[in-house]
Amino acid sequence: MSTPNNTQIIEEKRKQMLEQMQKLRARMDKVRHKIAVISGKGGVGKSTITANLAVAFAIHGHANHVGILDADIHGPSIPKILGLTGQRLQPGSPGVFPVLGSLGIKVVSMDFMLPDENAPIIWRGPLKMTAIRQFLSDIMWGELDILLIDLPPGTGDEPLSVAQLLPEMDGVIIVTIPSEISQVVVKKAVTFARRLRMPIVGVVENMSGFVCPNCGVKVDIFQSGGGKRIAEESDIYFLGSIPIDQKISKASDKGVPFIVEHADSPASKAFLDIVKKVEAFLKEKEHGGSAKTEG
Ligand code: ADP
Repeated sequence: MSTPNNTQIIEEKRKQMLEQMQKLRARMDKVRHKIAVISGKGGVGKSTITANLAVAFAIHGHANHVGILDADIHGPSIPKILGLTGQRLQPGSPGVFPVLGSLGIKVVSMDFMLPDENAPIIWRGPLKMTAIRQFLSDIMWGELDILLIDLPPGTGDEPLSVAQLLPEMDGVIIVTIPSEISQVVVKKAVTFARRLRMPIVGVVENMSGFVCPNCGVKVDIFQSGGGKRIAEESDIYFLGSIPIDQKISKASDKGVPFIVEHADSPASKAFLDIVKKVEAFLKEKEHGGSAKTEG
């Protein structure tokens, strides 16, 4: 047998890529809405917000029809928050099954492919793009009402890949905290989304004040209201604020979805409120409403 020359190899690669993109389109056609969650910097609670919004969507009439793609290749944390660490993606035919979380949430994360949770991923851009493409094309997501995509902070390879692979994306939710420094970087996230022509669903202000569990007094640790101000200045929707609540971090550490365990807390109500606003945004967009967010 003769060895293939460079042109044949390139042609073969091109064919494989085309096939994979066709598969991706077929899978993603069954996903009604796609929303990415981004933040300017790390540690603002983006993954916590993504996981809890997914649970809130499931509770709000979409059980078994919500998915999360944890596209934070280097620091996947969705499995930990949802108590799915140690689970594995199951190969089947004709694809790979996502891991099922509570309320039938379908989760895909790099964490499900690592030998252990301390194993680092040391990849350059093209490999990350390939991984994200495969997550979208080879996973049997099935019929979903909504797929939330948790992107790493900043403006690196992963958000670029997602924007390129999913041009039909409904929009991005930007998570911030009220500190000044976070306000500066969130503006970069807004500019980034606009450059990539991704509509902005709105801004969520996390860690917005702390209600003392003993005396009930609200303390604005980072000052609150910065998220709302940014939204007004950038002419995008303000989706709501989530307070600092010790129960949120405890639930995440235990791997129990916070809003399932503490349905009556102000933070849980805030999550459900945000879901209703996101649904209103999606409905308006479906009916061709003018999205303030596309600025
Ligand atoms: P990011 O994805 O932005 O890096 P994470 O979602 O991993 O941030 O959150 C960082 C830490 O902050 C975690 O320990 C998480 O439990 C905690 N956390 C996030 N939001 C809140 C909140 N509203 N109240 C209390 N702890 C929070």
